[in-house]
Amino acid sequence: MSEPDAADEPRFEWVLHCPCGESLRGDSEDAIVETSFAHLREKHPEMADHYEREHILFMAIKFRKPSP
Ligand SMILES: [Zn+2]
Repeated sequence: MSEPDAADEPRFEWVLHCPCGESLRGDSEDAIVETSFAHLREKHPEMADHYEREHILFMAIKFRKPSP
């Protein structure tokens, strides 16, 4: 049994390309959801009510951050 090495854990980044042309980024699922909702409420208030966390995560692209 080997313990998972937390130090080698890959870091991920979430990017969501809004139809208006804006690129939203977050370091975690929570971050991209929060950032996206903030953007929706500010720029597309009529859409904000129709979106849920699942929709944001479905549209967001998950990238693996290159290790330093
Ligand atoms: Zn937008």
